[in-house]
Amino acid sequence: MKIALCVKQVPDTDDIKWTENNTMQREGVESIINPYDVYAIEAALKLNGQITVYTMGPLQAAEMLKSIIALGADKGVLISDKKFAGADTFATGKTISAAIKKDMPDLIICGQFATDGDTGQTGPCIASLLGIPQVTFVKEIIECSDNKVKVLRVLEDGEEKVEVTLPALICILKSDFEPSRAKINGIIKAQETEIEVLTLEDLDLTADEAGIKGSPTYVSKAFRPEVKHFGQKYEGAEIIYDKLKEIGVING
Ligand code: FAD
Repeated sequence: MKIALCVKQVPDTDDIKWTENNTMQREGVESIINPYDVYAIEAALKLNGQITVYTMGPLQAAEMLKSIIALGADKGVLISDKKFAGADTFATGKTISAAIKKDMPDLIICGQFATDGDTGQTGPCIASLLGIPQVTFVKEIIECSDNKVKVLRVLEDGEEKVEVTLPALICILKSDFEPSRAKINGIIKAQETEIEVLTLEDLDLTADEAGIKGSPTYVSKAFRPEVKHFGQKYEGAEIIYDKLKEIGVING
């Protein structure tokens, strides 16, 4: 079974920097694997398949792909081109789906959300553009055969089991298991594996369909909400004790 795993790098910081187009600056910023994607990776590793990891991002994301190969994935594809910059979720979905289509898998696994953009739209967008079924909010893959996947999905008021025919896309939620750690053989394999880089030219997309040009939405303004501090800071046990006594929290 061929599995495409979509993993996003997100900034490892609360100090978000913005470009002049009101988009997030990603190059040169410390990054981590999107926390939801850690669970998507685990779900993929538990299946007995050939895993190709896809990420759309700056060239520095190649290292992240290698770290997932070290965990057990087989290949890494980095979708990277300056012309992809400024992509909204639609253009992102379109670009990633064009890359996946080059080697159509049986199952596509995404995380449910990315902690920076947090729209949860990318997975569903990829599935609709590829014309395949999708199941979101998946807590567990119950079973997966050559032509079907059965999953447990979380609803607001309970859970349901859903079975879909492959090819299909599933979006994975946070789960209870411990993330895997890379073993030495995996690390050696990752070092020896070349990451495939796909640019706009390699995809069946025009420049007008990618990046900011291919994005039907735009960010008109980005700002940090004002933080209102209602509390007061006191230092020293005695002062805190007196203050707590004054407002009646402690007696004596
Ligand atoms: P979600 O949809 O919440 O992610 C869900 C899952 O989709 C993830 O867990 C992962 O499995 C998969 N996924 C999401 N993104 C990727 C990816 N890149 N590679 C592989 N898998 C992925 N972002 C920029 O980096 N640079 C920009 O210049 C930029 N400009 C933007 C301009 C506009 C107008 C808008 C609206 C957004 C812009 N963004 C930009 C944000 C970018 O569109 C989103 O980060 C991206 O579409 C993913 O959406 P999300 O973060 O909500 O992910």
